[in-house]
Amino acid sequence: MAKPTSFEYQVFDRKLVCPVCENNKFYTRETLMNTAGMALFNLEFINKTANNYICDKCGYVYWFMDVSEK
Ligand SMILES: [Zn+2]
Repeated sequence: MAKPTSFEYQVFDRKLVCPVCENNKFYTRETLMNTAGMALFNLEFINKTANNYICDKCGYVYWFMDVSEK
């Protein structure tokens, strides 16, 4: 599988930096949150997409949920 291209990103005007290896290049991917198991924990409200930012160096994954809509 070809390596996806990584970029630098900003979240809330802050530069995204990996807390583990201090790298600043990330891959992104959009993940549909799976609610099947979430319902057990009263987390159905999470039934939406999340943005992942994956450090291209160590693989650390940031998760950002869209909190702007209800
Ligand atoms: Zn990293």
